[in-house]
Amino acid sequence: MTSPFLNNLPADLLIRDDAAEQRLLREYGAVFLARGGVVPPSRVIFKDEDEVASFQSRLDVGVSEIAGLQMELQSVAMSQLLEAADEAQEAGLSITPRGSDSARRNYHGTVELWHSRVEPALVHWVSKGRIEQEHAEFIRALQPHEQVSEVFKLEEDGIYFAKDLSKSIIYSVAPPGASQHLSLLAFDVREFDEPRVREILARHRWYQTVVSDLPHFTYLGVDQSDLAGLGLKNVTHLEREFWIPNV
Ligand SMILES: [Zn+2]
Repeated sequence: MTSPFLNNLPADLLIRDDAAEQRLLREYGAVFLARGGVVPPSRVIFKDEDEVASFQSRLDVGVSEIAGLQMELQSVAMSQLLEAADEAQEAGLSITPRGSDSARRNYHGTVELWHSRVEPALVHWVSKGRIEQEHAEFIRALQPHEQVSEVFKLEEDGIYFAKDLSKSIIYSVAPPGASQHLSLLAFDVREFDEPRVREILARHRWYQTVVSDLPHFTYLGVDQSDLAGLGLKNVTHLEREFWIPNV
């Protein structure tokens, strides 16, 4: 328990003692170190709409129209994003949202996205004989947050739930209640493929923190030179740099 990552987690972060939460903390955990005037999420997994709404009501929220879409982020994260967008524009580039749900999401939105991966995967794996029909029905009947550990268990046997069915669902969509978008500290960037855009975002403290989620950026509120000291490590994947928990 002496890793800088664990030591730098917020004191009030509720981490339940189950395998799914432990795994999500390792995979998505960079956001819990967010600082510099923003509030990190208070749960590894928000259990329902009430928990999300109560957390979101504590936040200082900045609202801005970007490329015709109304976006909401924590204020400091929003002002840094707008500065990055100005800088991009001066360089003949742009930083805009991929869609209307690129910034703030509510719990219900994360549940819909989760189902959009789980349901087709269940149908596929039942048709391949890898999951019994009754087991699929059992999973369908669970509450969304209860489905997470069931899906993780199947993935241990190579029964993957990402959109392309070749990797874990968590590289395709966040489990319900675990999305960084619920914390208003994440933004999905349309121009994610442009290296200069990624550089500009990093200079404004927006980093990639979820390996394989290429358009997804997270506001961490510190300079790049401070990330390692906080307990994050730099991982290169598809020529991009990701900052993930060093645990
Ligand atoms: Zn995202």
